[in-house]
Amino acid sequence: MSPGSVVVTGANRGIGLGLVQQLVKDKNIRHIIATARDVEKATELKSIKDSRVHVLPLTVTCDKSLDTFVSKVGEIVGSDGLSLLINNAGVLLSYGTNTEPNRAVIAEQLDVNTTSVVLLTQKLLPLLKNAASKESGDQLSVSRAAVITISSGLGSITDNTSGSAQFPVLAYRMSKAAINMFGRTLAVDLKDDNVLVVNFCPGWVQTNLGGKNAALTVEQSTAELISSFNKLDNSHNGRFFMRNLKPYEF
Ligand code: NDP
Repeated sequence: MSPGSVVVTGANRGIGLGLVQQLVKDKNIRHIIATARDVEKATELKSIKDSRVHVLPLTVTCDKSLDTFVSKVGEIVGSDGLSLLINNAGVLLSYGTNTEPNRAVIAEQLDVNTTSVVLLTQKLLPLLKNAASKESGDQLSVSRAAVITISSGLGSITDNTSGSAQFPVLAYRMSKAAINMFGRTLAVDLKDDNVLVVNFCPGWVQTNLGGKNAALTVEQSTAELISSFNKLDNSHNGRFFMRNLKPYEF
């Protein structure tokens, strides 16, 4: 199941870049729209020599940037609409030696990881619904239309038995728990529009955010993620999974 077109946010490094590197292997995809806050500096992303890759600027916390981006995506995908949005851009803000989050840290964490994901998704919904409308019936897949958000196991309320002791990242946990609720709600709200909505945890990955001691390379995580994305169907809608499609408790 290959999507016709894909948007990947935060694609200049880390998991986003890895997702684009995996996606270009799929020759059935027509457009891979990869975003970077600073396109000039996105050298590794721009070094991918494939005419299907469109590198566009996007700062997810800026409404003007969102609007300009959404309009350019519309021009690229045209009347086909957009098949797959991958909300990947995210931050994990450190408290340094202070384990108590302050107002500014909580606000910025939620702005990038939660509010901006909601707003970008809403703005791209007309393009996603347009893609979904090209097929009849109620079968869901990434080739038809889907919103996938890269969440985190740290956002699982059920799994949180370590509190802040092991991971002093309360605001990050809250931002990912909130985006899990968004995914669940959106899946229900979009039932009649045939747009699939699923959240994933990529595992602990060697990136700026995950650190160099993380268990997985970007290649390992993203290869599994893409393989899982292509298997998604109605049974997965509104749920939260590990990269290998093992279910995660919300
Ligand atoms: P990185 O720090 O390597 O990359 C983060 C990406 O998000 C960068 O491209 C960054 O752009 C972009 N970004 C940050 N803020 C903004 C913004 N305001 N507007 C646009 N883009 C922005 O992190 P990862 O690749 O590890 O993380 C990707 C996703 O995976 C995140 O959502 C993260 O929470 C999640 N995740 C990661 C885990 C891990 O172990 N690595 C574990 C669980 C979840 P720029 O270069 O301009 O800063």
